[in-house]
Amino acid sequence: MVKIRTPYYLIDEKALLKNMKRIEYVRRKCGAKSLLALKCFSLWNVFDLMSKYMDGTTSSSLFEAKLGYEKFGRETHAFSAAYSRGDIDEIKGFADKIIFNSISQLKKYYPLIKSNKEKKNISLGIRVNPSVSYSHFDLADPARKYSRLGEIDIEKVKSVLNKISGVMLHYNCENGDFAAFDKMLNFISKKYKDVFNKIQWVSLGGGISFTNDSYPLDKFCGALKKFSDDFGVEVYLEPGEAAITQSAKLITSVLDIVVNIKKTAVVDASVEPHMLDLLIYRQSAKLDEKAGENEYIIAGRSCLAGDIFGAYKIKRKLSIGSIVKFSDAAGYTMVKKNWFNGLQMPSIAVKRLNGKIEIVREFDYKDFKQS
Ligand SMILES: *Cc1c(COP(=O)(O)O)cnc(C)c1O
Repeated sequence: MVKIRTPYYLIDEKALLKNMKRIEYVRRKCGAKSLLALKCFSLWNVFDLMSKYMDGTTSSSLFEAKLGYEKFGRETHAFSAAYSRGDIDEIKGFADKIIFNSISQLKKYYPLIKSNKEKKNISLGIRVNPSVSYSHFDLADPARKYSRLGEIDIEKVKSVLNKISGVMLHYNCENGDFAAFDKMLNFISKKYKDVFNKIQWVSLGGGISFTNDSYPLDKFCGALKKFSDDFGVEVYLEPGEAAITQSAKLITSVLDIVVNIKKTAVVDASVEPHMLDLLIYRQSAKLDEKAGENEYIIAGRSCLAGDIFGAYKIKRKLSIGSIVKFSDAAGYTMVKKNWFNGLQMPSIAVKRLNGKIEIVREFDYKDFKQS
């Protein structure tokens, strides 16, 4: 094995393939297409593999939409919480579907898109806020109080059905509970039946943990098939986390071990710039270690007091130079990395299906300076 300088993110294509096969299974079984949500994971160096199993990409901005179109191909869905005129001018040149967050944006840009000469047959959609959701965090709850995400008034949606051919509802976040998903799908089916009966496609968004081993995939497919048959609609899913879950590690080295009542091992990466969501959602990193009797706090090397990956009891003793691996480090990590403290940015490496490790990106002082 090549020795790579730490810190680095290591994406394992074999682990990725496992998720891809489950996604493909769903499409085969019930026709639901899956689009990769680029806001979670945009590492285009593995898109050749992913695009064999997924149907395209969905996005949160012009740049993500463009990246999906250039690097993933297949179907490109564009969404934005608010498009600028400049966004639409570019997006209408390549997107297959443009999904608006509000009726006012749809009405504003409708004439511009319909007079489009560059690309015909762009399908338009609107995001709907179903006012139900599943999320463990208010910060990530699209149906939270006063939410700006999606149209909430069904009558208004009905009034623009002549302009759209689909709707998108994103209302789940890390939902591994099929019964909860099914209950909400039934609720939505009743609430929007007059809308769904008149359109061609419905995207059910992301946030469904259907690639987990324990998820009842056949029941899930059954519910999606029924939904699709009942309304005669094409169903899309927009997995971010579910597409890449368990497929990467952040690999670090211990630089120092200090003691203040408890032992803290300081590694050569940091939570805020390299695994930011742990801080935002107040979670601990998952450590790739056997449990045991040795207690350590594992911390980052930024100057932030709370730069802590977690507190663990592990089997082995750590020493300076020990390699420490954090698992499940693919989603919402690399897309959020930043230069806080001017710390060395982890390289990005891919373990290909043939077992060979390829370093696809390294960062240095110039990158920091230019940022
Ligand atoms: C965030 C998001 C997704 C992906 O969510 P995951 O929880 O990563 O699956 C999909 N669609 C929309 C509209 C989103 O905002």
